[in-house]
Amino acid sequence: MTESVYINLWKKLYEQAQTAPTDANGNPQPSFVKYLELTYTPEEAEILQHMDRPGRFVATRNLASLADKPVEEVEVLLSLVHKRNGLLGMPGFYSLPPVPILFNRNMFYPEVKDGDLEAAELYQDYYIKDKFYRYYEGSMKGTPVFRTIPIERSIAPQQKVLPAEEAHDFILNHAPEELALVPCPCRTRTEKMGVRECRDKFPVGFCIMMGLPALHFEKLELGKRVTRQEAVEYFDKMQEKGLVGQTDNTITDNSIICLCCGCCCSQLRGRTRWDNPDAILPANFIPVAGDDCIGCELCIERCMLEALTMDDETDRPVVDADKCIGCGVCTLTCPQETLALHRHERSTPFNTARELFKTIALENRE
Ligand code: SF4
Ligand code: SF4
Ligand code: SF4
Repeated sequence: MTESVYINLWKKLYEQAQTAPTDANGNPQPSFVKYLELTYTPEEAEILQHMDRPGRFVATRNLASLADKPVEEVEVLLSLVHKRNGLLGMPGFYSLPPVPILFNRNMFYPEVKDGDLEAAELYQDYYIKDKFYRYYEGSMKGTPVFRTIPIERSIAPQQKVLPAEEAHDFILNHAPEELALVPCPCRTRTEKMGVRECRDKFPVGFCIMMGLPALHFEKLELGKRVTRQEAVEYFDKMQEKGLVGQTDNTITDNSIICLCCGCCCSQLRGRTRWDNPDAILPANFIPVAGDDCIGCELCIERCMLEALTMDDETDRPVVDADKCIGCGVCTLTCPQETLALHRHERSTPFNTARELFKTIALENRE
């Protein structure tokens, strides 16, 4: 009886574009079902199994009627689940969280709470060992969920830059006005597990949430509201440190800007550690070194994608365009200021989130 409510819940999650973790036969992945059991009590799952798929809000009174419970009782239960980041919504209307918020749920809180380490262990199993990352990072046909977004300063003058293609224009002119800095769950997870490899290089830091997710995390007191200018300044500071800028693979409706490392990030590791060369749409740029290059190799050390090597004949760095995602991180500390991004057409982001996730849903179910 208890198991079936969690399986019903898994089925609702599976209906979203990025699906939910499965085993090799397409059945609910056991560690993920255990994670659901860790996240929701049987009493909560009993009600939540009647929700629609993530992102579709359901009125409390409709849920109460489906679960055959008093509305007041159901509202109290849902508001408590919402407060601990297990649901999106507001009094009277709630939605299941999308899988990215759900499996990171505990990892937005810096302190280690009960169940966090067990949750992190289960993630190792369903996300890494059973390769759920292939669905999280993009469709099975290779459409990425995220795209790389460099900053203007890393792009050579006179290069064509399209609207929303670099971070400053994107944040100042295209992103939603509601912006919040929210603790990075990927580095929080490795930090809590005591295995964060980038500990001496980068802070745990924040993702920049946008629009409705920003308001959600602000309501939970997990997000700090920032202006567009403050978001730009934070982005620049983190790129300077060497983190890679990414956002949703769209030009509008974006929900997040991430500043990622190659050792903890659930997106970037597809390229740096796992077997997913389609993780992250590259920006339409690659770095080129000019005549002033002194061959110091600082840029090679900065690249987490191992896309730069030294050319023995010219004694200058050369780029492997298949590995390079056009993030611009390598250019920012060049002592000669001679390394800069040049146009290299290879990718087109989607216009809207609807187009992106419709494509991913179709490709995952073909
Ligand atoms: S995707 Fe990047 S910034 Fe976002 S949570 Fe993961 S590591 Fe942090
Ligand atoms: S070479 Fe590496 S650091 Fe430089 S733009 Fe490409 S991926 Fe980024
Ligand atoms: S950091 Fe600049 S000077 Fe040093 S090797 Fe790279 S391009 Fe040349």
